[in-house]
Amino acid sequence: MKEFELIDTFFKAGSYQRKDVVLGIGDDCAIADVPSGQSLVVTTDTLVSGVHFFADAPPEAIAHKAVAVNLSDLASMGAEPAWLSLSLSLPDADEAWVAAFSKALHALSEYYSIQLIGGDTVRGPLSVTITAHGFVPQGQALCRHNAKPGDLIYVTGSLGDAAAGLAILRGQLKTTQNSEDFLVNRLHYPTPRLLAGTAVRRIATAGIDISDGLLADLQHVLSSSGCGAQLHLEQLPLSVAMRESVPANKAYDFALAGGDDYELLFTVSADKRTNLEINLANFNVEATCIGQMTGKDGKIELRLGDEPYSLDVKGYEHFS
Ligand SMILES: [Mg+2]
Repeated sequence: MKEFELIDTFFKAGSYQRKDVVLGIGDDCAIADVPSGQSLVVTTDTLVSGVHFFADAPPEAIAHKAVAVNLSDLASMGAEPAWLSLSLSLPDADEAWVAAFSKALHALSEYYSIQLIGGDTVRGPLSVTITAHGFVPQGQALCRHNAKPGDLIYVTGSLGDAAAGLAILRGQLKTTQNSEDFLVNRLHYPTPRLLAGTAVRRIATAGIDISDGLLADLQHVLSSSGCGAQLHLEQLPLSVAMRESVPANKAYDFALAGGDDYELLFTVSADKRTNLEINLANFNVEATCIGQMTGKDGKIELRLGDEPYSLDVKGYEHFS
C-alpha cells in the first residue's frame, strides 16, 4: 500500500471532527482557526521503538502513549488540546499494525475532542512523532520560570508507578497480580492531567509535567526560576499498589527518579493555598503538597521527618 493510500484508508476518515478546522487532511496544509482571546500552544514529541517503548508493544499502547505524552505537555502549560498531526515511520507496510494504531488514535481523538489534521508516513525504523496544538486564555499559560522562594510545591496523582511497572516488565520486581497490572498499566497508558492544568492555571506560579522523574523535572523549574526546593518524602503520594509492592525507601527512589509518570508539578504562593484547594476540589483533581521552594538556587534538599535524606540512584536507568 502506498503512502497516500495508507493515510486515506486509515487516517483521513475516522478522526473526531472539530468546528474550528476549516480544512483537515487532504491538501498540502491543514487550516484551522484559533479562537479570539486564546494563545496557540504547540508541542512535539517523538517515541522511538526500543528507546521509548518495546518493539513488540501493542500498537494501541504506542498510540496511547504518543498522544498522552503530548497532551501532558499541553496540560503542564494549562492548555486545552485541539488538534494533532502525526508523522509515522514504519519498517514495512504492516496494514494490521496501522489499522490497530489508527483505530486507537481515533478513539483517543474522540475521547479528548481533538482532531487529527495532518499526517505523513515514511519507511524507516518504527517511530511515532506527534505534534499537539492547544489553546490557553491569553496570559494564563503556566511556565517554568515564575516560581518564587516560599511557594508550595504540589504534584497530581501518585508518583513512581511507571518506573515500578518497568521494573516488573524487566523481571526485577514481583508483586501481586492486581498490583502488577496496575503498575504496568500506568507505564503503558499514562493519563494526561488536562483538568488539573485547567484547574490551577490562574492560581499556580509555575508548572511542568513529570516525564523524566520528579527530581529531574523539578530541577528544570529551579533552573528557570532561580530557586531551590525542599521536599518532604513522607508526603510523596504513593499508590496502594506501590505501597504493597516495595519497602518505603525503594518507593521513594521510584517516586523521585523514575520517569514516565506524566503527573503535573506546580507551585503556588502560600497565601493562595485555600484558593487552590477549593479549585482542586471543584475540578475533582487530586494533588498533594510535597514541599516548598527555597532561596537556595538550584538545590533540592530531601527530608524524611526531621532528617536529611540522600537518594541512591546509581545504576538506576529509566526507559526514556
Ligand atoms: Mg514536558
